[in-house]
Amino acid sequence: MSSKRYRILITGGAGFIGSHLAQALIAHGYDVIVLDNLSTGNSKNIGHLTKAKNFKFIVDSVLNESVVEEMVKSCDVVYHLAAAVGVRLIIEQPSKTIETNVLGTEVVLKMCSKYHKKVIIASSSEVYGSGVSVRFKESDPCIIGPPNKRRWSYAASKLIDEHLAFSYWYEKQLPIIVVRFFNIIGPRQTGRYGMVVPTFIKQAIQNDPVTVYGDGKQSRFFLSVSDVIRALVAIMKNDKAIGEVFNIGSEREISIGGLAKLVIAIAKSTSSIRYVPYSEAYGESFDDMRRRVPDISKLKKLNGFTPKVKLEDMIKLMIKFYLKNNEETSKNL
Ligand code: UDP
Repeated sequence: MSSKRYRILITGGAGFIGSHLAQALIAHGYDVIVLDNLSTGNSKNIGHLTKAKNFKFIVDSVLNESVVEEMVKSCDVVYHLAAAVGVRLIIEQPSKTIETNVLGTEVVLKMCSKYHKKVIIASSSEVYGSGVSVRFKESDPCIIGPPNKRRWSYAASKLIDEHLAFSYWYEKQLPIIVVRFFNIIGPRQTGRYGMVVPTFIKQAIQNDPVTVYGDGKQSRFFLSVSDVIRALVAIMKNDKAIGEVFNIGSEREISIGGLAKLVIAIAKSTSSIRYVPYSEAYGESFDDMRRRVPDISKLKKLNGFTPKVKLEDMIKLMIKFYLKNNEETSKNL
């Protein structure tokens, strides 16, 4: 099967991860169609791709059934990345989060089922919620907090997306694959919706105080978007991935306080660190995860995946990107 004949639809393809995926797939010789309503995506993310003859960009919503139908029908594989993203956005607009994530996925799955197209559904490590596993495995329970805490609307909506995908797999043998992203970072990611690394980078570049929420001892594992794209392409090509869930994450842990220091050092910034209580940061008593450790052994077993890009190198690359796009910095970060 020649990869040239393959046409791939990316919903949310003007977003941070989607735009990197589109770029990589075009480079691999695939035809790529991006569907994005530019709510959190940005046409600048894919501006450099518009001249490629194997690239098409449609500005519309995944909630628009007839458009999704037409696009799904014309392609071979779908990456469904369109979603409400970022803790800040989710806290501010929980009903929109639920609507976009659940109804959007429903439309995409319905159309993929109608035309029997393989679909990769993007989910999130948020679904592990406040689970207590030291390392989250795909088979672990997902324990999310109560509905009066708005942040959990994201996890709940992503869990429904996953259940919906699996229902189509069981009931209609639709080839679905679910991927759970753990703290992905890279150029083009915006801090506007709360993501910590671009936020810290912007603050450090401007020599403003770097805002560490809580005591800064909470930790995360940050994975480069280029590692993610390698994993996503490999997963699409591997039939053993069908009907499975995969964690996509890094193997290096860092505390948020440690991250603040690292970003300040790499940016050669004079920023201080300001510790901000969660109530001030998010405007409510907030359930933060102290640790969120991905177990990526399942993905490793599937295709030998290992994260390649070092955190320091990612931060350097992101700083370079934001400095280069300086006039856009205030808007994009
Ligand atoms: N965080 C922080 N300062 C910020 C933004 C986020 O200290 O300006 C913290 C946040 O409370 C969390 C961690 O950084 O503990 C990662 O936050 P992010 O929203 O990037 O991802 P998630 O919470 O989904 O892991």
